[in-house]
Amino acid sequence: MIDGVRPKMPGRPSQRHEVKVRLRRAGLLTVCEEARCPNVCECFGAQTATFLIMGKVCTRSCRFCAIEKGQPPEAPDSDEARRLAEAVVELDLAHTVITSVTRDDLPDGGAAMFAACIREIKHRRPETTVEVLVPDFAGRKESLTTVLLEKPEVLNHNVETVARLVDQVRPGASLKRSLSLLRQAAETSDAVVKSGLMVGLGEEDSEVGELLGQLADAGCRVVTIGQYLQPSKTQCAVQRQVSESAFSSWRSLGHSLGLHVVAGPLVRSSYQAKEVLDALRLANGSSRG
Ligand code: SF4
Repeated sequence: MIDGVRPKMPGRPSQRHEVKVRLRRAGLLTVCEEARCPNVCECFGAQTATFLIMGKVCTRSCRFCAIEKGQPPEAPDSDEARRLAEAVVELDLAHTVITSVTRDDLPDGGAAMFAACIREIKHRRPETTVEVLVPDFAGRKESLTTVLLEKPEVLNHNVETVARLVDQVRPGASLKRSLSLLRQAAETSDAVVKSGLMVGLGEEDSEVGELLGQLADAGCRVVTIGQYLQPSKTQCAVQRQVSESAFSSWRSLGHSLGLHVVAGPLVRSSYQAKEVLDALRLANGSSRG
């Protein structure tokens, strides 16, 4: 629990349990559980989840992340897209978020698997909006194109932290590469482009402001900013508890830059993703967002 901020627990415990049972039965993973998200009870209680495809072993080693690291033991399961789409129908999801670990071991970084999942969901339940939270595909533009051709409503890619801390916090990643990916999505698709970061990793408030400017310049429409929480002693320590006034100042700065900034201690990149998309569409009076 963060100072005075407790995760919400809507829905009955049985409902949350029901979601878990269905996911296990379908052989599906969620980043909610694997990354120990503080909002898991709220989201499962609201019958929503962020699906984690292509296994739970990541080829990167971000210092804040609780997900297992190493050499993924198996190739992606080609049947996963069908099972995921079936779960979307079973859980009656109006909006679905799909993410993955980083699979640098795959020639396309897993892009074909993301594309198959979007295609399968749109085939079985066209009214469901799809948000994909993608890795950086090691900068391969053709991989992102493969995903965008399936027309996800939201293309999300987290920059996670400010420029000065990337090497320390996200080894193997680069802010330049992430901004280029977001710009490609904004320039070549109708998807709402979204990104996210965590604070409390050692950044200065001014560095976050600068990053918001870079994200707006890259064509982002939505940015999520949340307080980093240490999942276990294995991950890097929390450097500070960020004040509500800082979150509020980033919301205002974002607004002045044309960004829809969702910022608060428990905010995570796919937290209330449907509500965020609906709010953006409402604000823009269009079904596109
Ligand atoms: S790339 Fe994603 S899943 Fe992999 S370690 Fe980093 S944050 Fe975790």
